[in-house]
Amino acid sequence: MSNQSGTLFIVATPIGNLGDMSQRAQETLQAVDLIAAEDTRHSKKLLQHFGINTPCQAYHEHNERETAGQLLTRLQNGDSIAVISDAGTPLISDPGFHLVNLAQQADIKVVPIPGSSAILAALATAGLPTDRFIFEGFLSSKQQARQKQLQSLANETRTLVLYESPHRILACLEDMLEILGADRQVVLARELTKAYETVHRETLAGLVDWVKQDKNQQRGEIVLVVAGADEPDPSQIDTESEQVLKILLEYLPVKQAASATASITGVKKNKLYARALEIKPGT
Ligand code: SAM
Repeated sequence: MSNQSGTLFIVATPIGNLGDMSQRAQETLQAVDLIAAEDTRHSKKLLQHFGINTPCQAYHEHNERETAGQLLTRLQNGDSIAVISDAGTPLISDPGFHLVNLAQQADIKVVPIPGSSAILAALATAGLPTDRFIFEGFLSSKQQARQKQLQSLANETRTLVLYESPHRILACLEDMLEILGADRQVVLARELTKAYETVHRETLAGLVDWVKQDKNQQRGEIVLVVAGADEPDPSQIDTESEQVLKILLEYLPVKQAASATASITGVKKNKLYARALEIKPGT
């Protein structure tokens, strides 16, 4: 059955500069039976530019679930389909997940046609560690929820990549300043591959001032690349570890409490033991 099925292609398109459209992306979009596009009107311009006349169908976040089922049926009947989004790589903060998930479960061949993605373009130019990083997509648009997300990320030691809308960039940076601290290095990567491309690295304190003063920095498409938190120093007892030690001291003898706290927190056992003796002298 599956050898009669079509193939699902996940095709990256440029994030601004049409010169980044690969030859393979053009050939694939020309050859497939159908292009499932996030916004057909938007994609028509790109397709026209490259002389591609393949039929298009809308496939966006509001119809993703129902449309995925229909597209799967077409794939099972032998049609080949390409998914594209408005810019960059589909599924990366863009529609496509439901269809790829269904296709994988139905044993349909899924082929990537890689190309631009704002995450990697920003990360590669930020000059922050790239050996390990995390991507959090867009933070919440609601301040309270966003602050909570930032609090949970404050001790993350890996480089953090975020997408942010220009309308919220200042509010988001101000929350970061409050929660991650003034000295954290952040790169604002804006309008990558376009005429007003900007890659600006500063401390959070400096970046907030810069974005406040230059309203142009609150326009266009933006990725933030945030330096990870410093690795915890195992010779220092941070407040969280001290809290763990105090709780365990209520239930365990000093030596066991220090040992268990060391296993939980990674702080050196002898440091914790010395501190435990200060908290519970004479034990
Ligand atoms: N799928 C896309 C990708 O692979 O990068 C991302 C889609 S997401 C809906 C759109 C967000 O990506 C923008 O709000 C911005 O944060 C980021 N972005 C897209 N193009 C960009 C560009 N040229 N420069 C900077 N950020 C960009």
